[in-house]
Amino acid sequence: MDFDTPQAEAWIRAIAAAVEKDQSRLTELDSAIGDGDHGSNLNRGFAAVLTTLDGLRPDSPGAVLTKTGTTLISKVGGASGPLYGKAFRAIGAALPGPADPAALAEALSAGLDAIRLLGKADPGDKTIVDAWTPAVAAFRATAATGAPLPEAATAAAEAAEQGARATTPLQARKGRASYLGERSIGHQDPGATSTALIFRTLATTLTP
Ligand code: ADP
Ligand code: MG
Repeated sequence: MDFDTPQAEAWIRAIAAAVEKDQSRLTELDSAIGDGDHGSNLNRGFAAVLTTLDGLRPDSPGAVLTKTGTTLISKVGGASGPLYGKAFRAIGAALPGPADPAALAEALSAGLDAIRLLGKADPGDKTIVDAWTPAVAAFRATAATGAPLPEAATAAAEAAEQGARATTPLQARKGRASYLGERSIGHQDPGATSTALIFRTLATTLTP
């Protein structure tokens, strides 16, 4: 089955629930190497997204995701708002209609491109890019075997979680955590952790 409008909406609602549930964990991670607002930033942003979705009658997956991105950009002040906002807008722009696994892989890849264009982070800089990059690669590789959506999304979630864990020994080279220099080593990146949540919720949403 293709990725359709109700699934797009269910994904975003699941992200909002996961962010609310894990808000304090994200904030704790951001307290260690940032300013302790990552959980509250995302929770505020996705709460606003839920309100926007309540009044929307979306006619495509892209309409849901574009609106999500625009809302995040306008409601989240921290670095993560514009980065995730641009990502969801790029994913939305790539999904004018229902998408098969290969098309969703390309849309997620467009999301990563948007993050990198805005944030200029490379893999290894200890940012959301370190979870998003392996997630897109795993999604694409799994889709290329002809696997259905739940399988591709589960592979992406596992890769994102592994990518997030792998940020722990890295020294941050972008964002607020980079001000800490070597003291950023030994802590998992909050943004990579929320990216793992975003991909895990995609997998759970798509798994029947
Ligand atoms: P702020 O750093 O403004 O307080 P948040 O706390 O909401 O914003 O988000 C912090 C996260 O944003 C970091 O953990 C990191 O993953 C991500 N981030 C910061 N700068 C960049 C960047 N240039 N590119 C990609 N991700 C970034
Ligand atoms: Mg912060």
